[in-house]
Amino acid sequence: MRGLSHEARRLDMVERQIRARGISDPLVLAAMRKVPRHLFVPEEYQAAAYDDRPLPIGGGQTISQPYMVASMTAALGLAGDEKVLEIGTGSGYQAAILAEIAEKVVTVERRQDLQKRAARLLRELGYANVEAVTGDGSGGYAPRAPYDAVIVTAGAPRIPEALVEQLADGGRLVVPVGSAFHQTLTRVTKRAGRVETENLEGCVFVPLIGEHGWGEDVSN
Ligand code: SAH
Repeated sequence: MRGLSHEARRLDMVERQIRARGISDPLVLAAMRKVPRHLFVPEEYQAAAYDDRPLPIGGGQTISQPYMVASMTAALGLAGDEKVLEIGTGSGYQAAILAEIAEKVVTVERRQDLQKRAARLLRELGYANVEAVTGDGSGGYAPRAPYDAVIVTAGAPRIPEALVEQLADGGRLVVPVGSAFHQTLTRVTKRAGRVETENLEGCVFVPLIGEHGWGEDVSN
Protein backbone atom coordinates (compact mmCIF):
# COMPACT_ATOMS: atom_id res chain seq x y z
CA MET A 1 0.00 0.00 0.00
CA ARG A 2 3.04 2.26 0.21
CA GLY A 3 3.00 5.17 -2.18
CA LEU A 4 -0.73 5.00 -2.77
CA SER A 5 -2.75 8.18 -2.33
CA HIS A 6 -5.08 8.56 0.63
CA GLU A 7 -7.99 8.29 -1.77
CA ALA A 8 -6.73 5.04 -3.28
CA ARG A 9 -6.29 3.59 0.22
CA ARG A 10 -9.76 4.74 1.17
CA LEU A 11 -11.43 3.13 -1.84
CA ASP A 12 -9.52 -0.07 -1.11
CA MET A 13 -10.64 0.11 2.54
CA VAL A 14 -14.29 0.28 1.46
CA GLU A 15 -13.94 -2.70 -0.86
CA ARG A 16 -11.97 -5.03 1.42
CA GLN A 17 -13.10 -4.08 4.90
CA ILE A 18 -16.67 -2.95 4.37
CA ARG A 19 -18.25 -4.25 1.17
CA ALA A 20 -16.53 -7.64 1.46
CA ARG A 21 -18.01 -8.00 4.96
CA GLY A 22 -21.53 -7.57 3.74
CA ILE A 23 -22.33 -3.87 4.13
CA SER A 24 -24.17 -2.79 1.00
CA ASP A 25 -26.10 0.37 1.96
CA PRO A 26 -25.15 2.75 -0.90
CA LEU A 27 -25.39 5.86 1.30
CA VAL A 28 -22.97 4.36 3.84
CA LEU A 29 -20.53 3.19 1.16
CA ALA A 30 -20.58 6.60 -0.56
CA ALA A 31 -19.92 8.42 2.73
CA MET A 32 -17.06 6.07 3.64
CA ARG A 33 -15.52 6.63 0.18
CA LYS A 34 -15.73 10.39 0.60
CA VAL A 35 -14.73 11.39 4.15
CA PRO A 36 -10.93 11.91 4.49
CA ARG A 37 -10.37 9.67 7.54
CA HIS A 38 -6.61 10.48 7.61
CA LEU A 39 -7.43 14.06 8.65
CA PHE A 40 -9.24 12.78 11.78
CA VAL A 41 -6.26 10.85 13.19
CA PRO A 42 -3.10 12.29 14.81
CA GLU A 43 -0.29 13.03 12.35
CA GLU A 44 1.82 10.06 13.50
CA TYR A 45 -1.00 7.65 12.60
CA GLN A 46 -1.92 9.11 9.22
CA ALA A 47 -0.21 6.30 7.31
CA ALA A 48 -2.39 3.82 9.23
CA ALA A 49 -5.63 5.79 8.84
CA TYR A 50 -7.13 3.28 6.39
CA ASP A 51 -5.97 0.16 8.22
CA ASP A 52 -8.49 -2.34 9.58
CA ARG A 53 -8.33 -1.19 13.21
CA PRO A 54 -9.15 1.54 15.71
CA LEU A 55 -6.42 4.15 16.36
CA PRO A 56 -5.54 6.31 19.38
CA ILE A 57 -6.72 9.93 19.20
CA GLY A 58 -5.32 11.15 22.55
CA GLY A 59 -6.57 11.11 26.13
CA GLY A 60 -6.90 7.31 26.09
CA GLN A 61 -9.70 7.54 23.48
CA THR A 62 -9.89 5.93 20.04
CA ILE A 63 -11.33 6.48 16.58
CA SER A 64 -13.32 3.31 15.78
CA GLN A 65 -12.27 0.73 13.19
CA PRO A 66 -13.68 1.71 9.75
CA TYR A 67 -15.84 -1.44 9.60
CA MET A 68 -17.46 -0.62 12.96
CA VAL A 69 -18.25 2.94 11.82
CA ALA A 70 -19.87 1.57 8.66
CA SER A 71 -21.73 -1.19 10.49
CA MET A 72 -23.20 1.13 13.12
CA THR A 73 -24.16 3.71 10.50
CA ALA A 74 -25.85 1.02 8.39
CA ALA A 75 -27.70 -0.21 11.49
CA LEU A 76 -29.29 3.24 11.84
CA GLY A 77 -31.00 2.71 8.47
CA LEU A 78 -30.75 6.34 7.39
CA ALA A 79 -32.59 7.61 4.29
CA GLY A 80 -31.12 11.14 4.30
CA ASP A 81 -33.70 13.42 5.89
CA GLU A 82 -32.99 12.56 9.55
CA LYS A 83 -31.88 14.46 12.61
CA VAL A 84 -29.24 12.29 14.28
CA LEU A 85 -27.72 12.46 17.78
CA GLU A 86 -24.24 11.04 18.38
CA ILE A 87 -22.83 10.53 21.87
CA GLY A 88 -19.01 10.41 21.88
CA THR A 89 -17.69 12.80 19.20
CA GLY A 90 -14.06 11.75 19.70
CA SER A 91 -12.22 12.67 16.51
CA GLY A 92 -15.40 13.76 14.71
CA TYR A 93 -15.02 11.07 12.03
CA GLN A 94 -18.30 9.26 12.75
CA ALA A 95 -20.05 12.66 12.88
CA ALA A 96 -18.70 13.47 9.40
CA ILE A 97 -19.96 10.14 8.03
CA LEU A 98 -23.40 10.86 9.52
CA ALA A 99 -23.33 14.43 8.18
CA GLU A 100 -22.73 13.13 4.64
CA ILE A 101 -25.97 11.15 4.88
CA ALA A 102 -28.36 12.85 7.30
CA GLU A 103 -29.88 16.32 7.28
CA LYS A 104 -28.65 17.37 10.72
CA VAL A 105 -26.20 15.89 13.26
CA VAL A 106 -25.90 16.84 16.91
CA THR A 107 -22.79 15.32 18.52
CA VAL A 108 -21.87 15.42 22.22
CA GLU A 109 -18.38 14.88 23.71
CA ARG A 110 -17.50 15.02 27.42
CA ARG A 111 -13.83 15.96 26.89
CA GLN A 112 -13.54 19.59 25.92
CA ASP A 113 -10.12 19.15 24.24
CA LEU A 114 -11.52 16.54 21.84
CA GLN A 115 -14.78 18.43 21.31
CA LYS A 116 -12.91 21.61 20.31
CA ARG A 117 -10.56 19.84 17.94
CA ALA A 118 -13.37 17.89 16.27
CA ALA A 119 -15.61 20.96 15.96
CA ARG A 120 -12.80 22.92 14.29
CA LEU A 121 -11.99 20.15 11.81
CA LEU A 122 -15.65 19.58 10.91
CA ARG A 123 -16.05 23.31 10.30
CA GLU A 124 -12.90 23.44 8.15
CA LEU A 125 -14.19 20.54 6.07
CA GLY A 126 -17.47 22.37 5.52
CA TYR A 127 -19.85 20.24 7.59
CA ALA A 128 -22.28 23.06 8.37
CA ASN A 129 -25.00 20.59 9.39
CA VAL A 130 -23.09 19.38 12.49
CA GLU A 131 -23.65 20.92 15.92
CA ALA A 132 -20.86 19.87 18.30
CA VAL A 133 -21.58 20.17 22.01
CA THR A 134 -19.44 19.61 25.12
CA GLY A 135 -21.02 17.69 28.00
CA ASP A 136 -22.14 14.39 29.46
CA GLY A 137 -24.27 12.79 26.74
CA SER A 138 -25.21 9.69 28.75
CA GLY A 139 -28.57 11.37 29.35
CA GLY A 140 -28.84 12.44 25.70
CA TYR A 141 -29.25 16.04 24.62
CA ALA A 142 -32.76 17.23 25.35
CA PRO A 143 -32.60 20.70 23.71
CA ARG A 144 -32.72 19.20 20.17
CA ALA A 145 -34.88 16.11 20.90
CA PRO A 146 -36.62 14.17 19.45
CA TYR A 147 -34.13 12.42 17.15
CA ASP A 148 -34.81 10.06 14.24
CA ALA A 149 -31.62 8.18 15.08
CA VAL A 150 -29.23 8.05 18.03
CA ILE A 151 -25.75 6.47 17.97
CA VAL A 152 -23.56 5.95 21.03
CA THR A 153 -19.88 5.37 20.22
CA ALA A 154 -18.85 4.41 23.76
CA GLY A 155 -19.75 1.31 25.74
CA ALA A 156 -22.72 1.63 28.13
CA PRO A 157 -23.47 -0.61 31.14
CA ARG A 158 -27.15 -0.72 30.11
CA ILE A 159 -29.42 0.93 27.51
CA PRO A 160 -29.54 4.61 28.56
CA GLU A 161 -33.27 5.28 29.16
CA ALA A 162 -33.09 8.98 28.31
CA LEU A 163 -31.80 8.11 24.84
CA VAL A 164 -34.85 5.92 24.21
CA GLU A 165 -37.09 8.72 25.47
CA GLN A 166 -35.45 11.19 23.07
CA LEU A 167 -36.18 8.97 20.04
CA ALA A 168 -38.94 10.09 17.68
CA ASP A 169 -41.62 7.57 16.75
CA GLY A 170 -40.01 5.10 14.33
CA GLY A 171 -36.57 6.14 15.61
CA ARG A 172 -33.53 3.85 16.02
CA LEU A 173 -30.90 3.85 18.76
CA VAL A 174 -27.63 1.95 18.24
CA VAL A 175 -25.53 1.50 21.38
CA PRO A 176 -22.79 -0.91 22.56
CA VAL A 177 -24.04 -2.46 25.83
CA GLY A 178 -22.03 -4.69 28.16
CA SER A 179 -18.97 -4.63 30.42
CA ALA A 180 -16.25 -1.99 30.32
CA PHE A 181 -14.15 -4.34 28.13
CA HIS A 182 -16.62 -6.02 25.78
CA GLN A 183 -20.08 -5.11 24.55
CA THR A 184 -22.89 -6.21 22.25
CA LEU A 185 -23.98 -3.74 19.61
CA THR A 186 -27.65 -3.25 20.42
CA ARG A 187 -30.40 -1.64 18.33
CA VAL A 188 -33.53 -0.24 19.93
CA THR A 189 -36.44 0.70 17.66
CA LYS A 190 -39.36 2.74 18.92
CA ARG A 191 -42.73 2.15 17.28
CA ALA A 192 -46.03 3.57 18.49
CA GLY A 193 -44.63 3.87 22.01
CA ARG A 194 -43.34 0.27 22.00
CA VAL A 195 -39.67 -0.59 22.09
CA GLU A 196 -38.03 -3.48 20.22
CA THR A 197 -34.46 -4.52 21.12
CA GLU A 198 -32.10 -6.50 18.84
CA ASN A 199 -28.55 -7.74 19.47
CA LEU A 200 -26.41 -7.13 16.38
CA GLU A 201 -22.74 -8.09 16.96
CA GLY A 202 -19.93 -8.12 19.50
CA CYS A 203 -17.75 -5.03 19.80
CA VAL A 204 -15.18 -3.26 21.99
CA PHE A 205 -15.55 0.43 22.84
CA VAL A 206 -14.05 2.76 25.42
CA PRO A 207 -16.50 3.28 28.29
CA LEU A 208 -19.37 5.76 28.30
CA ILE A 209 -18.58 7.80 31.41
CA GLY A 210 -21.27 9.85 33.08
CA GLU A 211 -24.43 9.99 35.11
CA HIS A 212 -26.11 7.20 33.11
CA GLY A 213 -22.90 5.41 32.17
CA TRP A 214 -19.83 4.22 34.11
CA GLY A 215 -18.05 6.06 36.95
CA GLU A 216 -14.88 8.06 36.22
CA ASP A 217 -12.62 5.31 37.62
CA VAL A 218 -13.95 2.46 35.45
CA SER A 219 -10.83 1.74 33.39
CA ASN A 220 -7.95 3.50 35.09
N1 SAH B 1 -17.09 8.52 17.40
C1 SAH B 1 -15.69 8.78 17.67
C2 SAH B 1 -15.02 7.74 18.52
C3 SAH B 1 -15.49 7.80 19.90
S1 SAH B 1 -14.43 7.22 21.18
C4 SAH B 1 -14.92 8.98 16.40
O1 SAH B 1 -15.48 8.86 15.30
O2 SAH B 1 -13.72 9.29 16.48
C5 SAH B 1 -15.60 7.51 22.48
C6 SAH B 1 -15.73 8.96 22.88
O3 SAH B 1 -16.80 9.04 23.80
C7 SAH B 1 -14.51 9.49 23.61
O4 SAH B 1 -14.03 10.63 22.97
C8 SAH B 1 -15.03 9.80 25.02
O5 SAH B 1 -14.43 10.93 25.61
C9 SAH B 1 -16.51 10.04 24.74
N2 SAH B 1 -17.42 9.88 25.86
C10 SAH B 1 -17.37 8.98 26.87
N3 SAH B 1 -18.40 9.16 27.70
C11 SAH B 1 -19.13 10.20 27.22
C12 SAH B 1 -20.33 10.86 27.65
N4 SAH B 1 -21.00 10.50 28.75
N5 SAH B 1 -20.80 11.89 26.90
C13 SAH B 1 -20.14 12.29 25.78
N6 SAH B 1 -19.00 11.70 25.33
C14 SAH B 1 -18.51 10.66 26.04
